[in-house]
Amino acid sequence: MTVKNIFESMDYGEAPEAAGDALTWLADRGPVFGHFIGGKSVPPRDDFASNNPATGEKLAGVTKGTPEEVAAAVAAARVAQPKWAKSGGHARARVLYAIARLMQKNARLLAVMETLDNGKPIRESRDIDVPLAIRHFYHHAGFAQLMDTELPDQAPLGVCGQIIPWNFPLLMLAWKIAPALAMGNTVVLKPAEYTSLTAMVFSEICTQAGVPPGVINIVTGDGETGAALVASDVDKIAFTGSTAVGRHIRQATAGTGKALTLELGGKSPYIVFDDADIDSAVEGLVDAIWFNQGQVCCAGSRLLVHEPIAETFYAKLRARMDRLRVGDPLDKSIDLGAIVDPVQLGTISKMVAGNTAGTTYQPDTALPATGSFYPPTLITGLNTADTLMQEEIFGPVLVSTTFRTPAEAVELANNTRYGLAASVWSENVNLALDIAPKLAAGIVWVNATNLMDASAGFGGVRESGFGREGGWEGLQAYTKPKTTPKPLKPIATYAGKGGPTDALDRTAKLYIGGKQARPDGGYSRNVYGKNGALLGQSSLANRKDLRNAVEAAHAAKGWSKTTGHLRAQILYYIAENLSARADEFSKRLDALQGGKSGNKEVEASIQRLFTYAAWADKYDGAVKGVPMRGVALAMNEPIGVIGCLCPDEAPLLGLISLVAPAIAMGNRVVLAASDPFPLAATDFYQVLDTSDVPAGVVNILTGDHTDLAPHIAKHLNIDAVWSFSGADISKTIEQEAAGNLKRTWVNNGQARDWFSTAGEGKEFLQAATQTKTIWVPYGE
Ligand code: NAD
Repeated sequence: MTVKNIFESMDYGEAPEAAGDALTWLADRGPVFGHFIGGKSVPPRDDFASNNPATGEKLAGVTKGTPEEVAAAVAAARVAQPKWAKSGGHARARVLYAIARLMQKNARLLAVMETLDNGKPIRESRDIDVPLAIRHFYHHAGFAQLMDTELPDQAPLGVCGQIIPWNFPLLMLAWKIAPALAMGNTVVLKPAEYTSLTAMVFSEICTQAGVPPGVINIVTGDGETGAALVASDVDKIAFTGSTAVGRHIRQATAGTGKALTLELGGKSPYIVFDDADIDSAVEGLVDAIWFNQGQVCCAGSRLLVHEPIAETFYAKLRARMDRLRVGDPLDKSIDLGAIVDPVQLGTISKMVAGNTAGTTYQPDTALPATGSFYPPTLITGLNTADTLMQEEIFGPVLVSTTFRTPAEAVELANNTRYGLAASVWSENVNLALDIAPKLAAGIVWVNATNLMDASAGFGGVRESGFGREGGWEGLQAYTKPKTTPKPLKPIATYAGKGGPTDALDRTAKLYIGGKQARPDGGYSRNVYGKNGALLGQSSLANRKDLRNAVEAAHAAKGWSKTTGHLRAQILYYIAENLSARADEFSKRLDALQGGKSGNKEVEASIQRLFTYAAWADKYDGAVKGVPMRGVALAMNEPIGVIGCLCPDEAPLLGLISLVAPAIAMGNRVVLAASDPFPLAATDFYQVLDTSDVPAGVVNILTGDHTDLAPHIAKHLNIDAVWSFSGADISKTIEQEAAGNLKRTWVNNGQARDWFSTAGEGKEFLQAATQTKTIWVPYGE
């Protein structure tokens, strides 16, 4: 096409980016790639191909990692880790900074390679993927520098296994590697099978940047290689990918003591109110669902439009879709590139073809004759239960329905098993900021979409996974407290000496919904003191009792909306009422545990209540320094309903150490009291009754932890489980929690000194909250 033609037709000309340098880079290296282990490239095998999805041509051969190769990489990382950690924050900062600088120097090579390998438009890889990846290394060079002074009580986890998807190959690599290295860990990273090539460029950058051998290891391969990494001798798995594989990994790591973070799929709502700037909202959608061909975990793939403007909005959207250009990803003037692989193209096509609901609109856009391309698609008039409203399509397909009121918008938005991101469009800031906290999502964009930055936490709730990447909150996933764990000691329970029992039924009941409730099964057990005397009887809760307790906790959802100030007052009040009965409690504790330090435990319990009364209105969020005109608010939100299996030892202090941080942060709890010493908890009911704790905020069950644990972990309306039980149930809990991917915090058979500072503080507050990042751009 000549300039004259372009002037005459007023059509777009071609603006291709040259691929020569990237192709030469590949040709110079074989082009077959081996793993990067211990600072060296290991001899390659041409096990599978990495293809250019825009043409179908093979770019390079890639080695599929075997379990032995994974083990070799983990061993290299293990050897390198202590020295890397000891090198100190500043030394690590210099290495991360060198990586950032070299990525800048090689930015064009990285961008072109990414586009060749993944099919995304060069505009995106050049202007978004690569700059954000570089920013991540810069930002985390800073965290490395600050670790010694700002996180003095935290230590690295050790060796981290990291598994990433194909949609943002280099960016996901950066999100995983930068925080891990900054905090003194070493890594074994497995790229996705379709897109290994930028990781290969990155491995050369590591060598140039002076990354010590073994600190970064890259093993290529598919799901089997990933599974081998999950099973290997690593201390943590950080996974980004589909919910199905995430669930599988949750089960595979259960009970192993490996830390786990899961960044999974989404079906994020894009909510447009009638007072929105419609043209901006339409343009926002181009970025929300057609960025990277919709293969974006946080894509605004579910459009919810206010009914009064729906027809106007759809008309403008269809007109915009008519002008979207699909074509060669290396062409700088196209909007949509290629779908990553024919397999993914097949999945998208099948899902859309199989849909009979609503009205499908696809513009008459010309698609390239070869390669994996799919047109931008809009399906309107769907119902919430329709498959395409619920399932992640992971392609350029937008589904939509309408709403009438803000409350309905929230209900529709939250009608999904996912909870990654959401966009809210309204010119009324009060409305937008009223809606944002009500959305079940880890990220909310106000009048914007797909904003991301290294300083702001990214991650989901519900089946979108747990853990955050970016910001201070992301560092939590790569550190642990500097304590030396000791195994839990078995607790001695006391047998009865026989003799007469009380003629009256004095069985301590359960505490559900603010009332004492008889156990559904009607069973109880005797509790004896050290001298064999019967101290009382405690109820044995069953599954039905648990269901009732969870129902009561759900009904108390108003608690999550109360102020920290109110919650602080109630915690102080509990402390005051416990203090008034300190003698009685300390005698009970002595009788149960056969010791003389009951008064010490009561005193520590009162102090702990004060600690969390103090924190209730002081565990602040943050305003993140994102590089844009606007703010990103990191808000600490309660998780919801937390199921807690209390420690067997310290039956009062242990219980309070869990209840207090949980409710201080606005959660409701369902507790299984100390298994051998339940009566300390049952005495506590009256303290709760007299302290203005609303019904259902604290529910207490007594019974066998081994029986209760799987039901608590499995319950779909429990959002997180903590277990400090003496029973060997950590594995069961992590396995059963895979159902709704609830967050878990288990002791793995390790003891905790509840009387020391290990029994309280930020670790508990972090576990009791999740960060929601709300992005609010400035300007008209
Ligand atoms: P996927 O789950 O199929 O694969 C992701 C990675 O896991 C790949 O490297 C793959 O080889 C590996 N893998 C596959 N099976 C495995 C197993 N059994 N054990 C260990 N590893 C295994 O996902 P995908 O199709 O590559 O990526 C798309 C999905 O990723 C979408 O659901 C998307 O929403 C999600 N995603 C989420 C985020 C986020 O931050 N939340 C970001 C990007 C993508």
